[in-house]
Amino acid sequence: MLKSLKEPFTYARPGQTAEETADRRKEAGKGKGKQRARNASRTLKLMWNYLIAYKGKLAAVIVMVVLSSALSLLGPYLAGTAVDHFLVNRGTGFLRFLIGMGVVYILHSVTMWLQSIWMITISQQTVYRMRVELFEHLHRLPIPYFSKRQHGELMSRVTNDMDNVSSSLNSSMIQVCSSILLLVGTVSVMLSLSPLLTLLTFLVVPLMLLGMKWITAQTGRLFKAQQRNLGDLNGYIEETLSGQRIVKAFSQEKSVIEEFRLRNERIRLSGFWAQTISGFIPKLMNALNNLSFAIIAGIGAIFVLNDAITVGVIVIFAEYSRQFTRPLNDLANQWNTLLSAVAGAERVFDVLAEEEERTDEGTAVELDEIKGEVVFEQVSFAYEGRDSTISGVGFAVNAGETVAFVGPTGAGKTTLIQLLCRFYDPSSGSIRIDGRDSRSIKRESLRSKMAFVLQDPFLFEGTIRENIRYGKLDASDEEVEEAAKLANAHSFIRRLRGGYDAVLKADGSGISQGQKQLLAIARAILADPSILVLDEATSSIDTVTEIKIQEALQRLMQGRTSFVIAHRLNTIRQADQIIVLQDGAVTEKGTHAQLVEQKGFYSSLVNGQLDIIHS
Ligand code: ADP
Repeated sequence: MLKSLKEPFTYARPGQTAEETADRRKEAGKGKGKQRARNASRTLKLMWNYLIAYKGKLAAVIVMVVLSSALSLLGPYLAGTAVDHFLVNRGTGFLRFLIGMGVVYILHSVTMWLQSIWMITISQQTVYRMRVELFEHLHRLPIPYFSKRQHGELMSRVTNDMDNVSSSLNSSMIQVCSSILLLVGTVSVMLSLSPLLTLLTFLVVPLMLLGMKWITAQTGRLFKAQQRNLGDLNGYIEETLSGQRIVKAFSQEKSVIEEFRLRNERIRLSGFWAQTISGFIPKLMNALNNLSFAIIAGIGAIFVLNDAITVGVIVIFAEYSRQFTRPLNDLANQWNTLLSAVAGAERVFDVLAEEEERTDEGTAVELDEIKGEVVFEQVSFAYEGRDSTISGVGFAVNAGETVAFVGPTGAGKTTLIQLLCRFYDPSSGSIRIDGRDSRSIKRESLRSKMAFVLQDPFLFEGTIRENIRYGKLDASDEEVEEAAKLANAHSFIRRLRGGYDAVLKADGSGISQGQKQLLAIARAILADPSILVLDEATSSIDTVTEIKIQEALQRLMQGRTSFVIAHRLNTIRQADQIIVLQDGAVTEKGTHAQLVEQKGFYSSLVNGQLDIIHS
């Protein structure tokens, strides 16, 4: 089955105008606006569903986080008591104390190391799973989803957003948990030692919180903007690179570069401010830290002189106040990373929440064989948010016949084909294949009986052989070569260095447009479809290749129902039935001779008064 061709009509539509592209971009932007309003708790809950799969490891990480927090509280506490014991009371056992301190700090490092290793394992596995699910899901989404979005923006979700989720799972989660534990622990021990000094130490906390709140509010907004701008730029790069030929053909390089500069500048600005402002956090914390240290040293000394506390308590407080602001500082820093990760995760979950291509109705059947009888009955259809695109189209095709769709750009020819292969379903009327409503046939089954030969055939990076084999994945080498021979492609393939094993680039460069078509025909021959869709090339191809293509197409179309979006008079003349479309409706229908007789739109086309048919 030609999987890649499930989405062949979404790009390079000749009828698409600049305004339409802009509309799509606006729509994509609208989507993002909605995301910002979404709540983080839902995203966190969804995230939790992924993490819960690693219950055991997660519990171990939590134990390690608790242990390491307790150990980092114990260190300063021991140091403070040592000051009282050794300096004030001139006690003994210094070696034992040193060993004890050593063990505490070593254990602290070990617990930190273990928690980070285990968390990295969990986060990598989680992100691996999410990436697979996202990718699979993207491939199950219906075509309308893709026609509304830029490819680059979707790519950015699979790459950038996933990266963000991964890095914040790696470090931010642990940091946030241990910061909270440290805060609670520090405050409890401080309170138990001297409630009054604790209160005085905390005088700076409201200042810290206010400062932090202001900074995170600013940076959160800026980081989000940065991410959005990055997605936007990615989309633009992808769009202009894949449309290079158009850009060059219309000499739009300058304006494309100018637009790129603007978007790049937006990233620079939001990135600059996000980072500059978030860079203030440590400075602010440091200043406030010093302030609280001064309070402890000054007022603590008075307390000591009044015998309210010991010198050791001042040491503990001095150390704890540092330990107290560090987690606050970490929280502030990690908060930003978490925010951008949550925003990233939200964008990923948004895609995952998109409804997949509707599964076939329970009663839908698998068809082993399709003869290829096709009937359109009063078919009407409109793209989302548009007025009617197709209205009341009806025609009947016998198995094996060739139908040529003729009509101006935007008349609805491509849309009819998309309806036929169920990328969209009609809003009213029905399409019957071998007498069955197409909605009662499984999509997979239907599409596997169809093959497409498009104007600009889709080739992927791989050998010629692999590209042809895409039509039937289990085909033997002999079958591939046989199909290439029937498609008149064999001789040019043999002349390539490497022959069937010559590697094609992703954009198919290295072989000519006509040769690409021959490969597409070989692929379709191999697929052996009952229904063939052919979007005839409008560009002129050298005469020799053109003859080869025509000959190969004749062979391919033999005995199959073929729908041709036709531009060549030759093809149209040979069709069993010509369907003239204008503004989404059938205006004329019949054989060449009949239509010429009618002296309508078709006959004026043929007489060369209108310019959409090439002879
Ligand atoms: P043709 O193949 O005859 O050139 P199409 O079937 O591509 O015409 O388009 C018919 C009409 O539907 C045009 O007005 C086109 O702009 C519109 N159209 C095509 N694809 C989409 C889409 N994905 N979303 C919205 N409108 C579309």
